[in-house]
Amino acid sequence: MDLHGKHALVTGGGTGIGLAIARALAEKGAEVTITGRRLEVLAEVAGPGLHPAVMDVTSESQVRSVTAEAVAARGPVQICVANAGIAEGRKLHKTSAEFWRKIMATNLDGCFYTVRESLNSMLETDWGRVIAISSIAGLRGAAGAGAYAASKHGVIGMMRSFSEDFMGQPYTFNSICPGYVDTPIVSRNTEAIKERTGVSAEEAQAMMVKLNRHKRLITPEEVAAAALWLCDPLSSSTNGTEVRIAGGQL
Ligand code: NDP
Repeated sequence: MDLHGKHALVTGGGTGIGLAIARALAEKGAEVTITGRRLEVLAEVAGPGLHPAVMDVTSESQVRSVTAEAVAARGPVQICVANAGIAEGRKLHKTSAEFWRKIMATNLDGCFYTVRESLNSMLETDWGRVIAISSIAGLRGAAGAGAYAASKHGVIGMMRSFSEDFMGQPYTFNSICPGYVDTPIVSRNTEAIKERTGVSAEEAQAMMVKLNRHKRLITPEEVAAAALWLCDPLSSSTNGTEVRIAGGQL
């Protein structure tokens, strides 16, 4: 696959899954704008093909202006990876409206702003890929994480619907649904489980690993491989659907 001449934008591209996807795209020749809220994190991983830009996905105006700057510098966004997200869990009776809004603002509103702004430039071209990072929780729910699961269901609904909006045109819209991936989110989740249940860090990790039939965490590179495949011309018939990377977790 040759992505030379293609501009990709990856939100949350400075860490974890986003960084693995950004690196995979850059290795194939794409110029990749990597975004996040912390310049120091982005600057540390910036390099050939990886261009940092501070962009908080909860801010519609910032997503608009930063995307416009990236387009001015590197051309229309032809690969948009809406990956930025937060994973915090609370049981329903402990879920305040404020907490609910925080999760939705990042995972759902952020995905919508990102995709819409990138798409406006993508539509000037004759090829485009939109990939949203949902979660296995977007397909089946997650105990103690209703807001997160609802936001990730929403991401899937967006991709399915946007694909209908542009059916027959040379753009695809898909979600990737990972199980537990070895990234900073999982480290934070380990701490959260530890605090909530009083188990040790090892036991908390074991609880996550147990869900994977291969009895291990998934690597960010395994998720990136799926994203890369969705950018292959031969993936054109995969549209409006979900790719599950969950180690057999149903
Ligand atoms: P990370 O915490 O490494 O990645 C999250 C990224 O999102 C960070 O780079 C963070 O950067 C960015 N981010 C968070 N909030 C905002 C915001 N308001 N504006 C802009 N950027 C933001 O964890 P992962 O790589 O694991 O997570 C990536 C995606 O994968 C998330 O959507 C997550 O829900 C999803 N996922 C992860 C799974 C896992 O087990 N790891 C499983 C299933 C799905 P910064 O803080 O600098 O802004």
